[in-house]
Amino acid sequence: MTQPTIYQNYINGAFEAAQQHLEVFNPANQALLSRVPASSSDDVERALDAARGAQKGWAATPAVERAAFLHRLANKLRDNVAHLARTITEEQGKISGLAEVEVNFTADYLDYMAEWGRRIEGEIIQSDRPKENIFLFRKPLGVVAGILPWNFPFFLIARKMAPALVTGNTIVIKPSEETPNNCFEFARLLDEVDLPKGVFNVVSGTGAEAGNALTASQQVDMISFTGSVETGSRIMANAANNITKLNLELGGKAPAIVLDDADLDLAVNAIRSSRIINTGQVCNCAERVYVQRGVADEFIARIANAMEATRYGDPLADSNVEMGPMINRAGLDKVAQMVETARGNGAVLITGGNVADLGAGFHYQPTVLAGCSEDMAIMRQEIFGPVLPIQIIDTLDEAIALANDCEYGLTSSIYTRSLNNAMQACRELDFGETYINRENFEAMQGFHAGVRKSGIGGADGKHGLYEYTHSHVVYLEA
Ligand code: NAD
Repeated sequence: MTQPTIYQNYINGAFEAAQQHLEVFNPANQALLSRVPASSSDDVERALDAARGAQKGWAATPAVERAAFLHRLANKLRDNVAHLARTITEEQGKISGLAEVEVNFTADYLDYMAEWGRRIEGEIIQSDRPKENIFLFRKPLGVVAGILPWNFPFFLIARKMAPALVTGNTIVIKPSEETPNNCFEFARLLDEVDLPKGVFNVVSGTGAEAGNALTASQQVDMISFTGSVETGSRIMANAANNITKLNLELGGKAPAIVLDDADLDLAVNAIRSSRIINTGQVCNCAERVYVQRGVADEFIARIANAMEATRYGDPLADSNVEMGPMINRAGLDKVAQMVETARGNGAVLITGGNVADLGAGFHYQPTVLAGCSEDMAIMRQEIFGPVLPIQIIDTLDEAIALANDCEYGLTSSIYTRSLNNAMQACRELDFGETYINRENFEAMQGFHAGVRKSGIGGADGKHGLYEYTHSHVVYLEA
């Protein structure tokens, strides 16, 4: 039996032995993978001290030189795809192909954000005074705290550190306690590109201790958080004490609208893929379907067949599986409970509906529920598992009203061949993103942001980059 790996925090350019540890398990078979630091508030403060100490020098480094470190790191990741992807699959459970996509996309993302090094711009604004110039500078905020979830744990490191670093900030990252190993592997490769000490730091630990210490600290100038609404709300309370800038990427309940004039092959394939990818644990995958009555029976039959045909299991034991386990026991129990409650309230089980008996591991059957209605929790709350609830609608107006009547507002999708229907959806769907005739994922040059409880601010592209800066307006009369 292989021994668990012992990981250490990465603070001020050095790996540090920890006093207390958390254990990390493989969700597909519950094997112990590693022991990682259970960081205390003292550990967190030391990491923040390091980030603070490095920040002025880093900001004074030309942006193109800062960017060069990100390009070098991107190439390191590309040289280590197989090892990194295996680390992700082992602790998170996604299939190997998807883990490889995650690593390669992360490398591309580092390159993309690095390219902004020469493009970060301020503005010159017209003055009302004869001899005055008004300059708007964009400046780094200072020290960023990046707090990560477990579902795309590797990519999210880059989504936070790349825009933070290229704009002149330094950062302390806290990975999820479920998936810290890949973050320490990232730090190990970053250590080889000779980034100045303290610019990038990693502390692992629980949300209640390390996460809380990080978000409550006066040393932090911006909190960039991706995770649940519940945790986002706790973090806001901490941020309120110090008026710390917040960027919150929270949950979703993406509606997929399938109209009578949809290409059903396309809709079935896209929605099924979106619901099984990463075992349905994606903030922007189809979480509820509104299908128009004319195609409802055919759509339900076809998507049920497609879901039922999904091969699932332990991705490292069987390279043919299309779907791995759920992240942990709590996630599995929550999904099972939501399905039971929906059935109790009248939803009709078409396929799946049970915890899969594969021995160890947290596997749930791909599931389709029809006959759902807007009063059911399964149509309103985030499921985060391979379960697709379906409600029949008669008109696009009705579908849009139901889609918008939700506390989440991250992403949405619609399947139609009509330009008028597509344009009505663009005008009236009240979400941060809408996909027409496809499902997730978002582009790195777009802007990933939600409305309502799905978050504050956003990530990616120019708008995501500038979230990591503040303006400084100078009035020069000369
Ligand atoms: P979570 O909120 O349970 O945990 C996220 C992180 O917050 C972890 O690192 C955790 O340790 C930390 N944390 C917990 N309590 C804390 C506290 N009091 N103070 C500071 N930090 C604390 O979320 P999760 O289960 O890891 O991730 C799943 C959620 O993330 C889903 O709701 C999903 O929709 C969302 N998500 C959103 C996006 C997006 O782009 N909007 C992307 C991925 C995931």
